[in-house]
Amino acid sequence: MSQHRKQARRSGDRVMANGLAGAAREAATPLLASDEPPVVDLQDSGNGPFVFLCEHASNRLPKALGDLGLPAEALTRHIAWDPGAAAMTLGLATRLGSPAILQSYSRLVIDCNREPGLPDAITTLSEDTEIPGNRDLGPAARQQRVDAIWAPFHAAIDDLVATRIAARTPTVIVTLHSFTPVYRGLPRPWHVGIISSGERSFAEAMLSALRRDAALEVGDDEPYSARDHVDYTIRRHGFDRGLPHVMIEVRNDLVQSATDVAAWVDRLAAALVECATATGLPPTQED
Ligand SMILES: [Zn+2]
Repeated sequence: MSQHRKQARRSGDRVMANGLAGAAREAATPLLASDEPPVVDLQDSGNGPFVFLCEHASNRLPKALGDLGLPAEALTRHIAWDPGAAAMTLGLATRLGSPAILQSYSRLVIDCNREPGLPDAITTLSEDTEIPGNRDLGPAARQQRVDAIWAPFHAAIDDLVATRIAARTPTVIVTLHSFTPVYRGLPRPWHVGIISSGERSFAEAMLSALRRDAALEVGDDEPYSARDHVDYTIRRHGFDRGLPHVMIEVRNDLVQSATDVAAWVDRLAAALVECATATGLPPTQED
């Protein structure tokens, strides 16, 4: 297995390049120090037909933000990240010889699967947990998080996808997430959810493929859907470019061990390959 993790982009440079002239003093210090990991974790594991994306891969916080006023226990819970999602993403990328881009910082800093202007992009309340360090952020502090964390992540995806389109490499956009089994006291019955955008052909194919396993409870736009504003990444990088796309949510109690993750990688890889074949090669764009 050869995996090459590249440093794709250093966000600190971007912040400085954008300049924050006139910004409030609160945002004058760079969000990321030079010795912190780059925002974009790019796994270059081949030129296969998928681009795997994982916005909620990590619970890491920039040192400049401390612990956002949260106890350590809170940072291990699903409010900070999607447990198991990074392992599934990396496993699928390796299995299917396709690249992956993972976000290195917690969604509590800024959610990369949201329009950055939405109030919950930098949430002050996640499920029932208040996020003190996100309260009363001024415009400059919000913009700094966009510039340092959100924008370079999506720019890296843009670069990768544009390069593939220019090379006429067939591309299916796949985002990997996990969800908590109980939300606000309500148990969730689904083992896996397929979330779609306005163009559902690849999502429909995935639903059919996964539902052949009668033991699986497969949610269609459950436990979330575009109505919950969770479709940003598949819309921007899939729908808007006319590329096949799907967002996959696996219940996080099912991907706690390496063995469990491997089983889901097997299951999802088989379904993805079947669907990519059945729906034909993605059209090449921008002739
Ligand atoms: Zn997620």
